Amino acid sequence: MKKIVFLDRDGTINVEKSYLHRWEDFEFEKNVIDGLKAIKELGYEFIVVTNQSGIARGYYTEEDLIKLNASMVKELNNHGIDILECYYCPHHIEKGIGIYKKECECRKPNPGMLKDAIKKYDIDIDSSFMIGDKGSDLEAGENAGVQSILVKTGYGNKIVDKYEGKYPVAEDLLEVAKIIKKLI
Ligand SMILES: [Mg+2]
Ligand SMILES: [Zn+2]
Repeated sequence: MKKIVFLDRDGTINVEKSYLHRWEDFEFEKNVIDGLKAIKELGYEFIVVTNQSGIARGYYTEEDLIKLNASMVKELNNHGIDILECYYCPHHIEKGIGIYKKECECRKPNPGMLKDAIKKYDIDIDSSFMIGDKGSDLEAGENAGVQSILVKTGYGNKIVDKYEGKYPVAEDLLEVAKIIKKLI
């Protein structure tokens, strides 16, 4: 069975910038490469799960997002880090336009993206983790039955008071690796 670390994207892998959609604007958060390498050494594979309501809002297209994610995956590959798959939710119940305006199972905190991955890959949920910088990430993990960890990058620093004690808290992905090592 696969041990998976589910990763939020914005604010967790890359610096949070509102509705990021161009590779030129993409910047890795601190210690992401070293952190992911350390997590990989613990026997983990990676799946990205990201809410992208900018698509629903018409700020950018699914093609833009797929291109950006492909550039990110390629850059990580260059550092020896593989991403099994990038899942995204393009919907928004209120702000969505056309087909994207809907209530869905995939928008975190709903666990749809994680559950799809768990169905598709042979994933050991008891050994897997969800890492993110928002409450919706932590809850999505919990709703899918995996342990969640809050990173203080992105929005994480602003919500740490609310979630400390309920979930492990890490400065960045390098500290996430240390926490996972302790928990497994
Ligand atoms: Mg985020
Ligand atoms: Zn969705």
